[in-house]
Amino acid sequence: MSDKLAIEGGPPLRTLPFPEWPIWDEREEKYLLEVLHSGKWGLYGSKVPEFQRRFAEFQGAQYALCVTNGTSALEISLRALGIGPGDEVITTPYTFVATPSAAFLVGARPIFVDINPETYMLDPAAVEAAITPRTKAIMPVHIAGCPTDMDGIMEVARRHNLAVVEDACQAWGAQWKGVPVGTIGDLGTFSFQSSKNINAGEGGAIVTNNAELYERCWSLHNCGRTLTGEWYQHEVLGWNHRMTEWQAAILLAQLERLPEHMQRRSDNAAYLTARLNEIGGLKPAKVDPRVTRHAWHLYMSTYDPAAFGGHSCREFIQALNAEGIPCSSGYTPLNHAASIRRALAEQEGRISPWAIANAELPTLPSCPVTEDLCTRTVWFKQSMLLGDHEDMDDIAQAVLKIKRAWG
Ligand SMILES: *Cc1c(COP(=O)(O)O)cnc(C)c1O
Repeated sequence: MSDKLAIEGGPPLRTLPFPEWPIWDEREEKYLLEVLHSGKWGLYGSKVPEFQRRFAEFQGAQYALCVTNGTSALEISLRALGIGPGDEVITTPYTFVATPSAAFLVGARPIFVDINPETYMLDPAAVEAAITPRTKAIMPVHIAGCPTDMDGIMEVARRHNLAVVEDACQAWGAQWKGVPVGTIGDLGTFSFQSSKNINAGEGGAIVTNNAELYERCWSLHNCGRTLTGEWYQHEVLGWNHRMTEWQAAILLAQLERLPEHMQRRSDNAAYLTARLNEIGGLKPAKVDPRVTRHAWHLYMSTYDPAAFGGHSCREFIQALNAEGIPCSSGYTPLNHAASIRRALAEQEGRISPWAIANAELPTLPSCPVTEDLCTRTVWFKQSMLLGDHEDMDDIAQAVLKIKRAWG
């Protein structure tokens, strides 16, 4: 192996691609053709009900409801709980923008609580400290597919009589102390968007064990209809967030493949963690020992510039990419996002968001841990974990090569 780094003109450590995403076979084709020939492409088909049954079973939930995407799953969930104007919803700034957006989109306000520096998750004690008389719900996010401390979150929620919506949009099949995520809180949301570990292009689901909440979600996703009412009987204001049969057809095939994929990701993640811990300098995100299954949507790690001669994480990512190892820096702190600050200004002033110049945007309180970690986090995508141990060795060897050159 040449010691000269690829960014300095040396040969890259790896030229082979990692596994491509999505993965599909004749099962997806078969189920899609069944939908085509049935002529039932939306309502009254069999694939959506069948996927709902299978997904509910997979998540150990009494009910699963398919919707258009993970964002709508979050909005519907909050609205089903009666959360709206004047209410506060506590969540994490280290998530996809849809989590806090959902709170604003139902008229409520997301309150960001900083994350644990080792796990990247919400800290129940910090959540409790942020509760005000206006707090109505907590939205923990099982980021990367790793369950949040649900014992702690549920304890705080019960003590303060708060609802819990689990954003499990990255956590299909993940388990906290043997219990699948999504039903530990009142409602759990999932996404099937293209990058996700089960993918229908777009799509989402809500799970719950609460019959009344299920009925409310059903109404909200189906134009305010009721389960037993007439077709043109609309009892509440709702959206059309119904999933198509095409999406459910693909999801049925993807779900059949998921258990084997989960096993492979988790085996590779454990192997990569052991290798990276040996090398040092790139610290895998800590997984709470009470996490009994991690969905591994992302493999997250924290970069220590001191171990790499003071080079920035940005330079490290460029160097790793040049060695043939795809990776990225991931999220930016949402408490700084223009969209969130604009939504806050709009909510406070009841003015058009288009009329607010960037210079006039309010600032949100700082979340120092998130702000720091966002400058030195490295993500590997879930599909890379579908390779074998040699693929993981290449990741580790590339990290070691850069560390030797810079450290
Ligand atoms: C993907 C994702 C969402 C949104 O799902 P969409 O299907 O893209 O709307 C919400 N929260 C998290 C944490 C996600 O990763």
